[in-house]
Amino acid sequence: MNIHEYQAKEVLKGYGVRVQEGIVASSPEEAHEAAVELNAQTGTSWFVIKAQIHAGGRGKGEVKETGSRGVVLAKKLEDVKEKSAAILGGTLVTIQTGAEGKKVNKVLIAEDVYYPGASEPKEYYMSILLDRATGSNVIMASIEGGMDIEEVAEHHPEKIIKEWIDPKVGLQGFQARKVAFKLGLSGTAHKEMVKFIGALYAAYVGTDSSQFEINPVLKTSDDKILAVDAKVNVDDNALYRQPKLAELRDLAEEDPLEVEAGESGLNYVKLDGNVGCMVNGAGLAMATMDMIKLSGGEPANFLDVGGGANATTVEAGFRIILKDLNVKAILINVFGGIVRCDRIANGVVEAYKSIGDIRVPIIVRLQGTNAAEGAKIIDDSGLKVFSAITLKEAAERVKAAL
Ligand code: GDP
Ligand code: MN
Repeated sequence: MNIHEYQAKEVLKGYGVRVQEGIVASSPEEAHEAAVELNAQTGTSWFVIKAQIHAGGRGKGEVKETGSRGVVLAKKLEDVKEKSAAILGGTLVTIQTGAEGKKVNKVLIAEDVYYPGASEPKEYYMSILLDRATGSNVIMASIEGGMDIEEVAEHHPEKIIKEWIDPKVGLQGFQARKVAFKLGLSGTAHKEMVKFIGALYAAYVGTDSSQFEINPVLKTSDDKILAVDAKVNVDDNALYRQPKLAELRDLAEEDPLEVEAGESGLNYVKLDGNVGCMVNGAGLAMATMDMIKLSGGEPANFLDVGGGANATTVEAGFRIILKDLNVKAILINVFGGIVRCDRIANGVVEAYKSIGDIRVPIIVRLQGTNAAEGAKIIDDSGLKVFSAITLKEAAERVKAAL
């Protein structure tokens, strides 16, 4: 689960991570008030207005309706309202949103932290994530912080510092010092960075996150180290014990079909293809997607209905797949083990009748316990549903349907 930058910064602050201060606003008037309040709190007279969407690349992104960037600087209090109005309610397109962009419902009014001083402000990159290959957490950092980290990772991987942390022992002091040293820091900035890394790692573990990305981490002109941006991804499987974080979920940011699927207990991921599929078991679902590709189609989704599929789950799955207008055919591929094939077949027929007008052919491949009975139920139903027993048959049916 992703959360917004303004929420992530609050969470990080709770663990002692220094952040660029800000106040969130939902209207241009609120944005003005936020700036007044922020000026009172921090003394800042320059403000950064930041679109709050679950996607990065906002600084270079553009609001379709107004041409405004997703992150803009206001050097006067009087400009905050108007500049916020050019972002709020608009559709922000960034390299991460796709061409359709994302609607901006909130802006974060943040203090300017790039003020001049004894030294130049300097941007760094830092992330913490789970490294499955080594079964540990890894801190990644780079001197090349700012907006183009993907480029650095691709062309200059040597510029990314990596420090692996054994989750059983936790972050050791020498590791944080090593990262700070490799970032070329000394004196106060080095000490600040060590503190920053320690607090950030504690937040990562404490929030059960699977990914943190802080880009940029800023060294201010007076050697403070702080998070200017914050991307926090909390592990969905831990939300049951993170009730405060679970409340931060913003359903408006998520794919509506995925939200609906989640409510029905289905594992659904929307994709861009033309063949919808419904499968029991994640491994079989992956194999089915491969099969769809081999037969010349493209999977429209990943959908795992789980082990206990019945008429209700099958119907919920159908309804979700059918809402995707790209879908030209639906392939149901179920292995009847605990759930017998005849039960699934009845479920499909019932769901079909209950939904009524289904405009695309449905291919049902049932294998396992009572497969023949299942196929017979499908064939005798008189509906536009085709049965297949082998994968090859199913693939040919899909090909014919496209
Ligand atoms: P992203 O583009 O979605 O990753 O959004 P960020 O929060 O990283 O902001 C984008 C860019 O805005 C940063 O890389 C900075 O260059 C710039 N920026 C952010 N905060 C400030 C600030 O306080 N002052 C100035 N001058 N620039 C800022
Ligand atoms: Mn950023």
